[in-house]
Amino acid sequence: MNCLFCKIINREIPAKIVYEDDAVLAFEDVNPQAPLHILVIPKKHIATSLEVTEDDHVLIGKLLQAASDLAREKGVAERGFRTVINCNRDAGQTVFHMHLHLLAGRPMNWPPG
Ligand code: 5GP
Ligand code: ZN
Repeated sequence: MNCLFCKIINREIPAKIVYEDDAVLAFEDVNPQAPLHILVIPKKHIATSLEVTEDDHVLIGKLLQAASDLAREKGVAERGFRTVINCNRDAGQTVFHMHLHLLAGRPMNWPPG
């Protein structure tokens, strides 16, 4: 499959990996939008959040927990952070392997741009 993030999972493309277990991989975003910008992805290829099914309920919980654990580990938990899953064109999704953005290290606006 010609998927950029599957290639990162399979070590065909390098990335700065910050967390890995049997279900989840997390790595630094190549074009960070905040001092801390990590992508947390399922190892299972799921193109967008629209493709999440009942089989994925535990997996989605693991994504969120990995993000929270990383926020604590990186020292941003108390101050705060943002988690984002972009879906399709209007949200600006560019890589069609679902991923959770973990953004922190600066104040963030709401509503988002
Ligand atoms: P999206 O816009 O789909 O929600 O987010 C895709 C993210 O993947 C972007 O923030 C972009 O900077 C990041 N990205 C794209 N290509 C690569 C890559 O080859 N390596 C890494 N580490 N991040 C990437
Ligand atoms: Zn993939």
